[in-house]
Amino acid sequence: MTVLDDRPAVPAQAAPAEPRTWSFVDRVTGERRPVTCMPGCASDHAGDVASPTHPDDICCARHLDDITLPINVNGDPEEFRVMGMMMNVNPFDRQVSQRLPHIDLEVVDDHWIEGLDPDGFETVINTLQARLEKMRAVHAELVRVRAEYRAAH
Ligand SMILES: [Zn+2]
Repeated sequence: MTVLDDRPAVPAQAAPAEPRTWSFVDRVTGERRPVTCMPGCASDHAGDVASPTHPDDICCARHLDDITLPINVNGDPEEFRVMGMMMNVNPFDRQVSQRLPHIDLEVVDDHWIEGLDPDGFETVINTLQARLEKMRAVHAELVRVRAEYRAAH
């Protein structure tokens, strides 16, 4: 007899927590302004709440895992962050595009592509995907060339 496994293939995700709502005193106007955090915001807004803050400085962010690679800048390879991602929203930014969740992409150590909306982020992903496919082809060629080189020496 076959026992059917009716568990979902992907574990159900926990229901998202309610977004945090808080307020701060606008340093420009002196008024108290409400803020509702971006879902998943991991920013500590204690400083924003505790003292008058410029609205441009309000930022909700998700922290995403970093990866590093050893990169040679000055003769000795050092670990630098590559393809770092931050999901941010700056709800009062003077650039309206920053007022919706977006991605800031750290290509390598403090060199950023900022303010990516979903279409822009997809454009970057597609560019990198094409590069990865090229790297796979070059990898296969490297394996072949090394084998030929070893056989000849
Ligand atoms: Zn927040």
